Amino acid sequence: MSSNFATFNGRRRVPPPVNETIKSYAPGSPERASLKARLKTMAAETVDMPLIIGGQEIRTGDTATSVMPHDHKHVLGTYHKATEQHVAQAIAAAAAARAEWSGWAFEDRAAVMLKAAELLTTTWRDTINAATMLGQSKTVFQAEIDAAAELVDFWRFNAHYAQELLDEQPLSDHTMWNQLEYRGLEGFVYAVSPFNFTSIGGNLATAPALMGNTVVWKPASSAMLSAYYLMKLYEAAGMPPGVINFVPGDPAMISKVLLSHRDLAGVHFTGSTEVFNNMWKTIGASMSSYRSYPRIVGETGGKDFIVAHASADVDALAVAMVRGAFEFQGQKCSAASRVYVPKSIWGAVRDRAVAMIGEIKMGDPADFRNFMAAVIDKRAFDKIGGYIEHGRGNAKILAGGKVDGGTGYFISPTLIETTDPGYKLLCEEIFGPVLTAHVYDDAKWEETLTIVDATSPYALTGAVFAQDRRAVVHAMSALRHAAGNFYVNDKPTGAVVGQQPFGGARASGTNDKAGSKLNLTRWVSARTVKENFNPPTDYRYPFMNEE
Ligand code: NAD
Repeated sequence: MSSNFATFNGRRRVPPPVNETIKSYAPGSPERASLKARLKTMAAETVDMPLIIGGQEIRTGDTATSVMPHDHKHVLGTYHKATEQHVAQAIAAAAAARAEWSGWAFEDRAAVMLKAAELLTTTWRDTINAATMLGQSKTVFQAEIDAAAELVDFWRFNAHYAQELLDEQPLSDHTMWNQLEYRGLEGFVYAVSPFNFTSIGGNLATAPALMGNTVVWKPASSAMLSAYYLMKLYEAAGMPPGVINFVPGDPAMISKVLLSHRDLAGVHFTGSTEVFNNMWKTIGASMSSYRSYPRIVGETGGKDFIVAHASADVDALAVAMVRGAFEFQGQKCSAASRVYVPKSIWGAVRDRAVAMIGEIKMGDPADFRNFMAAVIDKRAFDKIGGYIEHGRGNAKILAGGKVDGGTGYFISPTLIETTDPGYKLLCEEIFGPVLTAHVYDDAKWEETLTIVDATSPYALTGAVFAQDRRAVVHAMSALRHAAGNFYVNDKPTGAVVGQQPFGGARASGTNDKAGSKLNLTRWVSARTVKENFNPPTDYRYPFMNEE
């Protein structure tokens, strides 16, 4: 940093964070009219999305399209794909930006994120929401809780938690002053985001940046429109060029270049377990070539459960099943995808759930009457369809089971019943609107808890429904390691930043809880400074003196 900058003398405090209020978009509301207008203009545009490296827009000419999942012939934009040379250029841009950015006072970096939050809640809200609705096929409510509310919460709460972290200082006395400096990592952070949450794409790149790091961000190919607009929002918020470098393209090639680079300081990943495991293996194999031990943070897959006790409230359980399994087409890492219900209440629960599923409207998210839209792409559509076919052959489909990829990738909300607790659909992550139910004997409550715990390798979210407190206590204990986010009489989705820190263990990730202080600690390398005000001037200690 130039010596012309004077250090700010004053203890600045981050404004106290408050969760962003979710707008209703009810008929007649101003936000509804304004968003509908933006949806219309955006649907009529074809955006050209370049790489953004060191603040420069780069058009490689090697392009792919972004389409609407619910109308897959409708092209929303064209994005450019990086070559190896561009990836190297992004590493250089991150390195060039690091000296200044990491030298800024934390409060100045925080101000960029707080400004981005304020812009997102106001002038940018419609753009980011509309891009998420059209590009990722989210209903207005699903877009609002993700792209607007959660992302704003990440930025406001991260700034607050980072401040708390920086406040943590060691003991000192009149002879010495001990200080902890929370340095950014020495190198770049590689952020790799999934398609399913715009907010995660935002957080994966900005959380390390807030702590003084510079970042190479590879967004998901199927969430490019919202990712690109986020880059534009960062520019508008005053983020210096090179702090976050936007590098879409072939993930295997991009990872090959970044993960083998000497300056890889961290990986901030959210996506499937398999991809994360492979990245970890590559890092392990490259250990001798790094300057520092890279921080590896990954939130991965899930096979999230609801387990009901005979004392469960039937209506609350059925609603949790429907909302938990089918909102955003079941493409939330937290989505309920297996449910265990005792025989005594199953008939009532099933009938209630099947009736609700029968009422669900599915279609274009620009039609606000729809509760569901399309799944993300052809690959997901085929994979989920394959699981439904398996269910048709080996279990009982109680509701849904229809797939139609003609205009958009539509899969109807599907409820399947099986008698086999080890059935494939109860064990594997499907990542679509498929909920598999296992009905157990009421007498086998404790045995069922053991099955829930052992059935899948994941441990992301889970819920127990019971009115009997003893059953809640049992479930909390038996399922202690089965979920990083555990719910009592609530659906297992919808975690809110600052309220339910989110992340899972086992094969669900490193459980560093996105949007919390635990996560931010991964992006700093602390330096301890001891200053002695009165150092000794004689090497001898008193015990050495003559008697
Ligand atoms: P994905 O693993 O297919 O893709 C995630 C990202 O990894 C994308 O950017 C993709 O391009 C990239 N990628 C693919 N191959 C790669 C490679 N060889 N090297 C480096 N990067 C590579 O996941 P997805 O389909 O985008 O998202 C769904 C998955 O994400 C589900 O498994 C879901 O459970 C998980 N998820 C987890 C959480 C959580 O908090 N635990 C949150 C959201 C999503």
